[in-house]
Amino acid sequence: MKQIAILGSTGSIGTQTLEVVRANGDIQVVSLAAGSNIVRLEEQIREFSPKVVCVWQEEQARELKRRVADLPVKIVSGMEGLLEAATVPEAEIVVTAVVGMIGIRPTMAAMEAGKDIALANKETLVTAGHLIMPLARKRNVRILPVDSEHSAIFQCLNGEDKRRVSRILLTASGGPFRGRTREQMRHIGVEDALKHPNWAMGRKITIDSSTMVNKGLEVMEARWLFEVGLESIQVVVQPQSIIHSMVEFVDGAVMAQLGTPDMKLPIQYALYYPGRRPLGGGRLDFAVLSQITFEAPDTVNFPGLALAYRVGKQGGTAPTVYNAANEMAVRLFLEKKIGYLEITDIIEAAVEEIPFREDPGLEEILETEQMTYEFIKGRWKV
Ligand code: NDP
Ligand code: MG
Repeated sequence: MKQIAILGSTGSIGTQTLEVVRANGDIQVVSLAAGSNIVRLEEQIREFSPKVVCVWQEEQARELKRRVADLPVKIVSGMEGLLEAATVPEAEIVVTAVVGMIGIRPTMAAMEAGKDIALANKETLVTAGHLIMPLARKRNVRILPVDSEHSAIFQCLNGEDKRRVSRILLTASGGPFRGRTREQMRHIGVEDALKHPNWAMGRKITIDSSTMVNKGLEVMEARWLFEVGLESIQVVVQPQSIIHSMVEFVDGAVMAQLGTPDMKLPIQYALYYPGRRPLGGGRLDFAVLSQITFEAPDTVNFPGLALAYRVGKQGGTAPTVYNAANEMAVRLFLEKKIGYLEITDIIEAAVEEIPFREDPGLEEILETEQMTYEFIKGRWKV
């Protein structure tokens, strides 16, 4: 029995991870964590019998405790509880599927406790990659990518010498607004932006995909995971989302991983790496598919991608400012407090205004996050 912890178990990645657990029957879930969805947590507790469950909101934690009083499960809350769920002694792998920078501390705590990380929570690597990667080496733990593009790259690199990689070709769908000008995107509403052409995901990443900020975050995620320079990472738009990413080697060979858009494949691959398990679901039918097309990304109308390369090159706290500004801007957009184009306007303004710090520690990263939120609240009067 493999024992795992799932942080963010009620979300899109979290519930699909539990589907993988259910289908395989040889994984034991020892802890779960979520923000506030106690209805779904109760169902998960009754089905998977974890030992520890964290609910971020204290009030909801108390309510959940009452609901599952008949079961031998420990309910905890807040950051202390999240750290406990991330470090339960039995867990070998921690699936980080919380959304946002809230994932940094539990991810690092799990690594300190010697656990492998199945990483979906890209915001953690974007903002603290310079702390996470050395920590992985020091504690001898693995960071197994769950993000589909990074899983594809990871699969292409299997058995290869990393020093023989010349380029990483990170594919992007281009999102629902591919081909539009900024002017044509001015009046986009929340409902329009929540419709992704190929993937069903959580709300924040769906908006990020539509602005191409998700691809910007993924460029920075790839840079840490595969330890390559940003200049060696090229984004290729592949609107059908069939090629999940590619790697070019020094002899010109290009390896790609293809498949239907289904996150259960990268999740399962991370949980059983280096093995492969059967997985149900659709298969590619090349006769029906008939074509796979490619384009260069539009960095003029989608400035979030070019800006990601800029902050990535700058390093230090710049990626934290980019990421934190995006987290807040997306929240404000979802609350209908700002317009669609203001998401990238806010990121640009924050990157210009927030003081830069080189080589930040964890506390400085979290301070920069707060500083970014304060700046946006002041400037946008929200
Ligand atoms: P969702 O919004 O669907 O789920 C987020 C999860 O995090 C929920 O379980 C939520 O709980 C939980 N959560 C939120 N705040 C807290 C908190 N303070 N403490 C503990 N748990 C919390 O997001 P996704 O599953 O879509 O994405 C998760 C991560 O995976 C993101 O970083 C995303 O970028 C990445 N990712 C997602 C992909 C996808 O297909 N969805 C693909 C690739 C990467 P609650 O439900 O109670 O609010
Ligand atoms: Mg992705």
